[in-house]
Amino acid sequence: MAEETQGTPESSPQTTDRKPNNNNRNNNRKPNNNNRKPNNNQNRNANSDGKPSGNKPNNNNKNKNRNRHRRQPTPVDENLKAFVQKNQEAHKQRLNPHYKLDLNSTAKIRITPLGGLGEIGGNITVFETEKEAILVDIGMSFPDEDMHGVDILVPDFSYLREIKDKIVAVIITHAHEDHIGAMPYLYKEMQFPIYATPLPLAMIGNKFDEHHIKEHRKYFNPIVKREIYEIGNDFKVEWMHMTHSILDSSSLAITTDAGTIIHTGDFKIDHSPVDGYTADLHRLAYYGDKGVLCLLSDSTNSYNTLPTPSELSVAPALDRVFAKAEGRVILSTFSSNVHRVQQAIQYGVKYGRKVCVIGRSMERNIEIAMQYDYVRFNKNIFIDADEVGRYSDKEVLIVTTGSQGEANSALFRMSIGEHRHVKIKPTDLIVLSSRAIPGNEGSISGMLNHLQRAGAKVHRSKDIHVSGHASMEEQKLMLRLVNPKFFLPVHGEYNHVMQHKETGMICGVPERNILLMTDGEQIEVAPKYMRKVKTVKTGKTYIDNQNNHQIDDDIILDRQKLASDGIVMMVIQVDGQHSKMQAKPKVTTFGIVADKQDKAFAKEMEDVIEHFLFHLKDGMIENSRALENDLRQIVRKHIYRKMKKYPLIVPHVLVS
Ligand SMILES: [Zn+2]
Repeated sequence: MAEETQGTPESSPQTTDRKPNNNNRNNNRKPNNNNRKPNNNQNRNANSDGKPSGNKPNNNNKNKNRNRHRRQPTPVDENLKAFVQKNQEAHKQRLNPHYKLDLNSTAKIRITPLGGLGEIGGNITVFETEKEAILVDIGMSFPDEDMHGVDILVPDFSYLREIKDKIVAVIITHAHEDHIGAMPYLYKEMQFPIYATPLPLAMIGNKFDEHHIKEHRKYFNPIVKREIYEIGNDFKVEWMHMTHSILDSSSLAITTDAGTIIHTGDFKIDHSPVDGYTADLHRLAYYGDKGVLCLLSDSTNSYNTLPTPSELSVAPALDRVFAKAEGRVILSTFSSNVHRVQQAIQYGVKYGRKVCVIGRSMERNIEIAMQYDYVRFNKNIFIDADEVGRYSDKEVLIVTTGSQGEANSALFRMSIGEHRHVKIKPTDLIVLSSRAIPGNEGSISGMLNHLQRAGAKVHRSKDIHVSGHASMEEQKLMLRLVNPKFFLPVHGEYNHVMQHKETGMICGVPERNILLMTDGEQIEVAPKYMRKVKTVKTGKTYIDNQNNHQIDDDIILDRQKLASDGIVMMVIQVDGQHSKMQAKPKVTTFGIVADKQDKAFAKEMEDVIEHFLFHLKDGMIENSRALENDLRQIVRKHIYRKMKKYPLIVPHVLVS
């Protein structure tokens, strides 16, 4: 720095020599300026002294004097310099603990997501060594609107059937439906020991009971966080407590001969969780310091630049709601978010209200949380739905399901006046303490219309809900704590995962060490490398919740066709000898033409069929299946030409 400053007086002519024109132009326009800023560097130096040198000649002299004075280089303390180097080395070691991985090891592990990537929900991941496999989470997801009559989607288990004999356990991170919802469907077909903390097991137990497979509770292995469990011969697994929008969530440390893999599960970093159980950052840091082979981390909120607020942060908004409410408060949230419900109940009770819990999943979740001491309430604060009428409106808090506008939920039924015990009143305050899951906006809006038509006020401001997923800064914290050699962003659609990759690179993971997976892609990880090896079969199985049975794919396709294009049925009686119609064909349609055009359409079909029969080749009439197929083609072509529709066509030919 001293030397550069020293150069100031000479630099100006030099610069002029190099770029005469440019400089002249500058000179003409701003002569003073040019003196002041002979070149950028010098100027910065001058400025860093705090006093620009150019336009005040006296000052400039003073500066020069000072500069001359500072020109004497301070002697370097070689010992200090050596310690700078030692510290740099220490930084290097702590930031790259991967040298602790056994690079000579030939051990490797394969990771295959069978759901949860390229989509939200349906999480299921296979971790596989040469001889053994564990499954992490068995979740379900929700159907698109065009999957008529489908209530839930369960991942395709084809690959699990293939490696069934290798599977030694199912490992659960937390009790959300998209992580445990498909358990009964898997266990009806194949069973393995289940390792999880108590809450997920209690909730899986409930599902097993509902599906009449109570006996599979014998596979439960409750675990204690921070203890390391040997599972099979190849896996050691530790559950580390995590904060999320459901109680008793965990991250996993999965150790094999290839190294340790950290799977975050779903998480956010909440420093003031309602139950005081903060995320176990210490254990993450412990593994991070030991050297982690690979990190799989939750990408859901990877676009959010602001940290996800603590669950506790909704408390003031809840307090305000209850302080102001004149009539009943009907609060709806995700039934699994027991801490939210707990806070709502606390404030309701604070303002002298009794609590009525309505909705099957809400009742069940609160019951389990109380049975297993995750939350404690005085039992006498609760009232039944049929008791609500006995209390004045100001004494009632109803906590209920239906925050997504689900048509079979309690709140929706209240909104259309079909709930047995609760009719909406103009003095009611409806509080939606949730966000709209993408795809549910329409049904929520529909429900809000009903509620407001019934006169109720609706409160759904942002401060009354917080997310359960880590935003960018928390994802960075995770990356820095775990410090993985390889990074697999998971849990989210492709664009979420992509953004998480960027965050990973900012946090020091080289791009070549990050892979973006999609469902079915198998990744092999070893201390020296990570690569895609193959793709296995994935997909979704459709489930009808009314009977918990699978619906075959072709049924869904037929329903889609019926819904979008309608159906044409025709019965034709043919004289086998003369290939002539014996009577007018009977044509029935649904969803194609209006009733008043039915006759005209039937006539049109008649002509088409007659024309078809007239041109029929010899012998065709005997094979009624081939005949029906041909007829179907002809009718399909005709209808498409006229209407641009592909209805289901059901011909029935009776030959006599
Ligand atoms: Zn979750």
